[in-house]
Amino acid sequence: MKTLLVFEYRRGVPAETNPELLAFAAALGGEFACAAVGGEAGLPAFPGRLYLGEPAQFGEYDPALHADFVLQAAKKEAADRIVFLHSSYGWDLAPRVAARLKAAQISNITGIVDARFEAACCNGKMRRLVRPTTAQAVLTIQEGAFPLGETPAGTPAVEKLEPSAAVGGVEFAGYEEPEAREVNLAKAEVVVSAGRGVGKKDNIAAIAELAGLLKGEMGASRPVVDAGWVSHNRQVGATGQMVSPKLYVACGISGAIHHLAGMRNSDFIVAINTDKDAPISEVADVLVVADVMPFVAALNEKLKE
Ligand SMILES: Cc1cc2nc3c(=O)[nH]c(=O)nc-3n(C[C@H](O)[C@H](O)[C@H](O)COP(=O)(O)OP(=O)(O)OC[C@H]3O[C@@H](n4cnc5c(N)ncnc54)[C@H](O)[C@@H]3O)c2cc1C
Repeated sequence: MKTLLVFEYRRGVPAETNPELLAFAAALGGEFACAAVGGEAGLPAFPGRLYLGEPAQFGEYDPALHADFVLQAAKKEAADRIVFLHSSYGWDLAPRVAARLKAAQISNITGIVDARFEAACCNGKMRRLVRPTTAQAVLTIQEGAFPLGETPAGTPAVEKLEPSAAVGGVEFAGYEEPEAREVNLAKAEVVVSAGRGVGKKDNIAAIAELAGLLKGEMGASRPVVDAGWVSHNRQVGATGQMVSPKLYVACGISGAIHHLAGMRNSDFIVAINTDKDAPISEVADVLVVADVMPFVAALNEKLKE
């Protein structure tokens, strides 16, 4: 089996998550090559072939031209699997490539189980196991699901590709600056996060107090942010910040895959949940089966002593 991994860039800088594609290829087994519209500098090392396209020719992001680039590389490699990160780049490009190849597409892969792909569904509440039935398949992988263990050594052999057709039709206008993240959860040694299980906005103060007593920062799951209880710059997860503190305390958080993607690499995880079977228990080092607010109130009192 041959796999083509598609690296991505922002403003000419390779994405920090590109190495996760290599980790996925290692989990998948077989040969792989890589492709990127961008420069070679900053890409992860690996032995094998690297197809490069000039952004001046393919555009910073022109979907038709980038699809043309990936299709050319996939053809040269006779790739059975074409893999993107499940990012805005991958979301947009993968279906275009799959449609052109008439290949199956499996999005948001979080694991490989018995040669089948595990993918999140039902808003991240369930996982399904799927296997493509077409010879080729286009895949996107959930960021954070395939952390790279050992970095492969080697220098890739570079082959440059030119646009094969004057396609296009989209003008790249530029990037929009994200809202300022004055809270850097990624650097915190302790993160205490509030989930929907805390019940109401008034209870956030006690979670913030626990974070303060542990000399850490407060984070939150997405529903808590969406409800306006906590600002977005504290959201942990696939569409929030990625954290890997020494201690992560999940208060009333179920452990949906999108949340796990942002915190599963924490050194020690404590979860407080009334449901002993909540998915967070799969990654928690300690699961406290309790009503979260009375438990946090008692813990805060103890810590103040
Ligand atoms: C594209 C996409 C991106 C997403 N990105 C993110 C992201 O970045 N971050 C994120 O968090 N989510 C994200 N989500 C949403 C995610 O899929 C989940 O819906 C979300 O993480 C669930 O949040 P939760 O655990 O707080 O709520 P729920 O899933 O509702 O879980 C609440 C938990 O609290 C427990 N509970 C209830 N009452 C109590 C109590 N009194 N005491 C103790 N425990 C109690 C319940 O047993 C349950 O386990 C994303 C979803 C999509 C589709």
